[in-house]
Amino acid sequence: MKVGVLALQGAYVSHMEAFSSLGVEVLEVRIPEDVEKIDRLVIPGGESTTISMLLDWNGMRSPIQKSISEGMPIFGTCAGMIVLAREVLDGREDQAPLGAIDITVRRNAFGRQVDSFESDIEIVGFEHPFPSVFIRAPVVESIGEGVEVYAKVDEKIVLCGTDSILVASFHPELSNDGRIHEMFLSMEPSGAQR
Ligand code: GLN
Repeated sequence: MKVGVLALQGAYVSHMEAFSSLGVEVLEVRIPEDVEKIDRLVIPGGESTTISMLLDWNGMRSPIQKSISEGMPIFGTCAGMIVLAREVLDGREDQAPLGAIDITVRRNAFGRQVDSFESDIEIVGFEHPFPSVFIRAPVVESIGEGVEVYAKVDEKIVLCGTDSILVASFHPELSNDGRIHEMFLSMEPSGAQR
C-alpha cells in the first residue's frame, strides 16, 4: 500500500514520519501524476486558503476529485478537513473546498483566546483517550447522511468520517500515537461512485 501526503504547504512531513513509523510506504504528492501512484491520500494541516489556492495552481483539483469519486480513502487533518468539506464557514470568499464529505466546518472555531491547546479526548472504539493537539482548529458544525461522529470536544465534533473519508480538527501526526493513522489505514476504498 502506498500512502500519498499532499505536500503543497503545511504539516506534511510529520504525517510522512507517522506513516513511516507504522512501516507504510509514503510518497509526497505535488503534481497530478503523483496521484496515479498512490492508494490513499492525506491532506495535512496548514492554511486551508493557501492549500486550496495551490491545488488549483498545481492542477491538482481534478485528479484528486477523480480519486474521491473512485472511492480512494482520504484523510484530512485541520486545514485538510476544511479542504475536504462540502461547506466552509468563516472562510475566505475565494476558498473553494473539494466537497468530498458532507460536512459544514467553521474555521478557527475555538476562538483567539484558545488559539492552540492540547487535550486527551475520548474516541469511539479507542480503549484509552487520544492526546490531541489543536492549532487554530476548525470544528464540524453539521454533518450529512452517512457521516459518523467519532469524537467531540465541548460538544463540538472534532473527528468524523464516512466509509472512505476521515477528517480531524486536530493534528494526530503531532502526537506520538499512531492509532488514528492506523484507523485511516484500515479504511476500505468506497465501492460506490459518488
Ligand atoms: N486555521 C487554519 C485554516 O484555515 C487551519 C489550522 C491548521 O491546520 N492547524 O486553514
